[in-house]
Amino acid sequence: MSKFFKTLINSRIIILAVLGITLYLALARFNFSLWYVLGAGIFLGVIFGKVFCRWVCPLGLLMELLMSLSPNGKIRQMYQYHKIGCPIAWISGWLNKFSLLRIRINNDSCKNCGICDKQCYIVAMEPAKYSLYKADLEKPGSSYTCSKCLKCVASCPNGSLQYNIFANSNRK
Ligand code: SF4
Ligand code: SF4
Repeated sequence: MSKFFKTLINSRIIILAVLGITLYLALARFNFSLWYVLGAGIFLGVIFGKVFCRWVCPLGLLMELLMSLSPNGKIRQMYQYHKIGCPIAWISGWLNKFSLLRIRINNDSCKNCGICDKQCYIVAMEPAKYSLYKADLEKPGSSYTCSKCLKCVASCPNGSLQYNIFANSNRK
């Protein structure tokens, strides 16, 4: 993975803060319809999957700040996993299965080390159901709950996980 992409993923909370506050201020200043926000969230969902909640949304930023107060991260995981969200989350979560960019694994280079699974709150909540690399389990990146934190992609030491539009693997 390119250094730029890794830096982008590791800076997600800063990007969320900038975009979330900007969106909030723009809504307060110009008072435009929330339908535009919904449309933008769905448009992003078609291309990237459910990115709006954790990269753009002011409420997502607020929730992340609150959840960071959780001492052992358990409440944070539960919020991330169980949240029912708003219409943008419902629709873009469903789009995780069909979006242009998706998390894909390259089996040839994967060493089955399991590092990626340790980064994922979906796997943490249901390890018997989901895995990023185990072929017999469901892929968390395609589930409704994946908000494209992309920690899994950034964590793979072999670059075996990619977030792209190319069908370059036999497990997706
Ligand atoms: S971190 Fe990379 S190499 Fe390790 S199991 Fe996951 S995809 Fe495979
Ligand atoms: S982007 Fe990866 S680590 Fe984050 S929730 Fe989705 S599958 Fe899990």
